[in-house]
Amino acid sequence: CRQENAGVYAPVHRHMKDASECTRPKLISLVMPAYNEQGTLRVAFDRLEDVFAGSPYEWELVLVNDGSSDDTLLEATTYRSRAFRMVVVDLSRHFGKEAALSAGLRSASGDAVIPMDADLQDPPELVLEMISRWAKGAEVVIARRSDRGSDLWTKRFSAALFYRAFNMMSDVAIPENVGDFRLMDRSVVDAINGLPENRRFMKGLFAWAGFRTEEIDYVRPSRASGATKFNTFRLVNLAIEGVTSFSTAPLRLVTYLGVSVAIAAMAYGCYIALRTLIYGVELPGYASIVSLLAFLSGLQLLGLGIVGEYVGRSYMESKSRPPYVIRGIFRSDAG
Ligand code: UDP
Ligand code: MG
Repeated sequence: CRQENAGVYAPVHRHMKDASECTRPKLISLVMPAYNEQGTLRVAFDRLEDVFAGSPYEWELVLVNDGSSDDTLLEATTYRSRAFRMVVVDLSRHFGKEAALSAGLRSASGDAVIPMDADLQDPPELVLEMISRWAKGAEVVIARRSDRGSDLWTKRFSAALFYRAFNMMSDVAIPENVGDFRLMDRSVVDAINGLPENRRFMKGLFAWAGFRTEEIDYVRPSRASGATKFNTFRLVNLAIEGVTSFSTAPLRLVTYLGVSVAIAAMAYGCYIALRTLIYGVELPGYASIVSLLAFLSGLQLLGLGIVGEYVGRSYMESKSRPPYVIRGIFRSDAG
């Protein structure tokens, strides 16, 4: 049984472990969002089977079908495993990875929960190391990519830029080069599941939850088969989503920008007035007027856009629509 040494403010149930709970094997849930992954699923399942057979833990694979248009659901529901029990959560349409992951976390019942991609880019072997850290007392074990060699330099550069900008603006820092692949204790998952927001930027929510975190390094392999589901445009959208859900710094920035431009405009106005008084009226000035006008209207549109992002977010949140809808859940036991 794990040593419970949570602090004064830990929820009461963490201290109330009875003997039966200490003797039953711990259940580990793997949460796998899958969108059009029919080509990779079987390979991934077989690999999990190899890695987890003979382990002292019980295993559960929560596969979330994110409205795939191929045979992902069929592949998942017809697979019979000896090593893990299978829970297939079928969403009613394509909701996106963040929503699919949220659905998976809420459907997982393990003592520890590990989100994992379906394309084998998150090596299952690493899970065993995460679990040994967890058994020794870590509540979160994050996996950091020690090298991003499998990415293009453009993706590496933009990722570095994103982490730098996000961490400068937000109160919670998200660790660099760490994806959704991590182990979370039940108490961490409960905290995240309890968050009411419906636009869910999971990396941020994970960091927001906190808890005792340890870190392991790994080299991320490239995709087993198929292609990534994230193009540049979707990544930029995700970045804007992340920043606007965790910080209002851009709004502050617009305020400062407005004040600085107003001060500069006032100084320039004084300069023109003085010059006119000293040298008299001078007509040419077309170019400067046009470029200033264009610059200022650009700034105004930018400011409006940033404010609009936040208004839009509050509007969407205020409707309190659920982040996903589940069509059905299929379960099968190991064996
Ligand atoms: N995914 C999903 N819904 C989406 C996009 C992706 O469920 O809208 C899943 C996908 O099936 C995979 C994981 O999220 O299991 C990671 O996706 P991908 O490999 O395309 O992302 P990358 O590794 O390139 O960041
Ligand atoms: Mg991938």
